[in-house]
Amino acid sequence: MAEVAKTQGSQSVQGAGAFEVLKMFIDGQWVESSTGDTREVVNPANGEVIAVTTEGNEEDVRKAVAAAKRAFYEDGWWDTPASERARLLFEVANKLEQRADEFARLETQDNGKPLRETRIDVADAVACFRYYAGLATKPHGQTYEVADPIQAMVVREPIGVCGQIIPWNYPLLMAAWKLAPALAAGNTVVFKPSEVTPLTAIKLFGIFEEVGFPAGVVNLVLGAGQTVGHEIAVNYDIDKVAFTGGTKTGRSIMQAATGNLKKISLELGGKSPNIVFADADFETAVDYALFGIFVNQGQVCSAGSRLLLEESIYDKFIERLVERAKKIEVGPGLAEETEMGPLVSEAHMEKVLNYIKIGQEEGAKLVCGGYRITKGELAKGYFVAPTIFVDTTPDMRIVQEEIFGPVLVVQKFRDEAEAIKLANDTVYGLAGAVFTQDGAKAQRVIRKLRAGITWINCYHPTYNEAPWGGYKQSGIGRELGTFGYEEYTEVKQININLQVESTGWFKN
Ligand code: NAD
Repeated sequence: MAEVAKTQGSQSVQGAGAFEVLKMFIDGQWVESSTGDTREVVNPANGEVIAVTTEGNEEDVRKAVAAAKRAFYEDGWWDTPASERARLLFEVANKLEQRADEFARLETQDNGKPLRETRIDVADAVACFRYYAGLATKPHGQTYEVADPIQAMVVREPIGVCGQIIPWNYPLLMAAWKLAPALAAGNTVVFKPSEVTPLTAIKLFGIFEEVGFPAGVVNLVLGAGQTVGHEIAVNYDIDKVAFTGGTKTGRSIMQAATGNLKKISLELGGKSPNIVFADADFETAVDYALFGIFVNQGQVCSAGSRLLLEESIYDKFIERLVERAKKIEVGPGLAEETEMGPLVSEAHMEKVLNYIKIGQEEGAKLVCGGYRITKGELAKGYFVAPTIFVDTTPDMRIVQEEIFGPVLVVQKFRDEAEAIKLANDTVYGLAGAVFTQDGAKAQRVIRKLRAGITWINCYHPTYNEAPWGGYKQSGIGRELGTFGYEEYTEVKQININLQVESTGWFKN
């Protein structure tokens, strides 16, 4: 049987092929959905069922919202001193760090990505909880000298009940990005992981229980987007919804959120350009081009999925890129030598393979991969070979649409102006990079990119301290850094009269 951690909070779960149903955490209790419905969780490396979860519904969201509302307004969570919220979050970070290996292995089995990536994801999640634990106690207000005798001050207050919905590509890390700032700022939370990859989130809520968050402050509801996710977006008692996922889903969440005009933040898809000029350091640029698209099997919102090459290095660059892409070690994520794992699910693999077919039908030329790997044991899993398309045109669907898999499309440009034009020519604006040894050119081009996350002479490094989010249809708002904290606060101005006497405005 697949190796999988079998504890949920402090409850133990039976082994030997039978799965005790993993529960949700609502109002400080581990509970099953009233319907008794369940969902199987599959290891994408071999198609085996590794866990069974309860399948929540709208009613479960409503229960969680009621608990979160009570915890915020009546039980006084939002009046909890920042130092206490910080203490709890530091404890979460410490416990997560102590169990890093267990979390990394579970994430690899649930999501498929190689262990060397999930180890980094867990370390990043620990750092995120620590960052926001620290930020909770730092100064957040301002004062203004407006006009004598009034002094104005601005304070930041928590928004209230926050609904949070995340995707499957970084299950634990996305949970940390959402939960840490919301709790640091004093909100209560109703959180929904992806139904495809719920396992590390369930364990994380076990840690929340252990460290002693008051009942109702953190609530975990498991289930599908159409039911649990939609109810979070539409619920009148949720004051803010924070979403990470596809642009189409983001649009429907924005519409559903209009009823009570809840605050929204959306982290959506991308089709990000990675621009390489002829004067770039050649091997570094090749290396980052591979890293930009094939890390996490290309299932990264900010992936460098469009490689823009200057005409004079086009052939030489592609030759070297293909030579190296063919050597990428594809295999099960738990094997230490694996460099690229399976896609997250059979359905997602089919979607990616369909895009590869579309690319061929559109007339793009495949120079690497383009198929499901069915060799030996890998046939049981959802493995797709690193894939590269050349001879593309800007109007092709594979150039315009997010594939979210290990598929790189290459575009050719003649000069700086054309590079910028091609780079900005999609509905997305999440990320982008430029490789050149001309510092001024690098700055010029990066400033012209309509994207929120950019790199010069590297691709992908991401830090808790800096804001994350997109332009255009890649999202609304920012996560991480002080920006991410502020997304979970309301701003209040307080005007203080320093001279308490009547105005004399009305004569009588
Ligand atoms: P998805 O949009 O299908 O699902 C994301 C989450 O939304 C899941 O929890 C799902 O259950 C839920 N959901 C689905 N339909 C819903 C609905 N109608 N109402 C409410 N919730 C609903 O995305 P995915 O396939 O899980 O993830 C891939 C996408 O996420 C990609 O487009 C990727 O670019 C994006 N993503 C963006 C970022 C970012 O920071 N910008 C980060 C990671 C992933």
